[in-house]
Amino acid sequence: MVLRRAGERLAIEERPEPEPGPGQIRVAVEACGVCRTDLHVVDGDLPDPKLPIVPGHEIVGRIEAAGEGVGLPLGSRVGVAWLGHACGHCPYCVSARENLCDTPLFTGYTRDGGFATHTIAEAAFAFPLAEDLDPVAAAPLLCAGLIGWRSLKAAGEGEAIGIYGFGAAAHIIAQVCRWQGRRVFAFTRPGDAAGQRFALSLGAEWAGGSDEKPPAPLDAAILFAPVGALAPQALAAVRKGGRVVCGGIYMSDIPSFPYRLLWEERSVVSVANLTRADGHEFLALAPRAQVRTTTRPYALEKANEALDDLRAGRLEGAAVLAPYFAHTKNV
Ligand SMILES: [Zn+2]
Ligand SMILES: [Zn+2]
Repeated sequence: MVLRRAGERLAIEERPEPEPGPGQIRVAVEACGVCRTDLHVVDGDLPDPKLPIVPGHEIVGRIEAAGEGVGLPLGSRVGVAWLGHACGHCPYCVSARENLCDTPLFTGYTRDGGFATHTIAEAAFAFPLAEDLDPVAAAPLLCAGLIGWRSLKAAGEGEAIGIYGFGAAAHIIAQVCRWQGRRVFAFTRPGDAAGQRFALSLGAEWAGGSDEKPPAPLDAAILFAPVGALAPQALAAVRKGGRVVCGGIYMSDIPSFPYRLLWEERSVVSVANLTRADGHEFLALAPRAQVRTTTRPYALEKANEALDDLRAGRLEGAAVLAPYFAHTKNV
């Protein structure tokens, strides 16, 4: 499923099976999650995508072919995430911050991704995955989970965590918070009773509209909704020294706000991309925390519908494309 120009619908394209170069693998895609970042790519919110581009960066699949120098066994299951390549020698790469690499490649944005039956990935950036997992259930872990985890680490050690925007990342990270013994306060669009019930079912002790004050001051807040106006609202909800973490790659403008909201050592930070260390850490932790994802599977050729449903807020949990879904189940 190919995006030819920003703002257009994805188009079905038949291409020859890609050949992996040195250090690369060809992955037969079993499932690929649909992330809000894919929407930002498709809608043209992000600068300079490779066009045409195959979106998708929450890929679960099996290694079907390998180029020279690849150590991973053929047939084994891997995950491919947003960070598709980092240079390894820029100041960021050599200081354990490859998420900020000067010349990165991002899966489904600047190199082709997983809204496809096959994709090429760099073996060094693929995560080995267990044989017994369900590919559709695991796909959202690859971005919603990983970026969510990096955001939660950036939020610090506080106990009371506010989560603004209760979509794919939030529904995973709320479970991790509960497993860590933290308290979760969930903020949805005002009036979204279904979203609030969903949050409560995953262990949030309170759920309300983003315009509401939580019943207790927050130690930190994570913004997964791409809405800049939430930043001052979240600042008003965190205690002294509290941190507001912006977890998305794109956000509408943050409106000006009185300095007193930032005063007393409150801070606003952003989280960009992921490191492979984040990935290994989170993928090991998710089964221990017994993270259960809520997914809605779509046949690959229904990618546009999945994107529409995400854009309209019609999803609970995460949309996942499965190339062979239509052949095994009635959709
Ligand atoms: Zn680099
Ligand atoms: Zn993503």
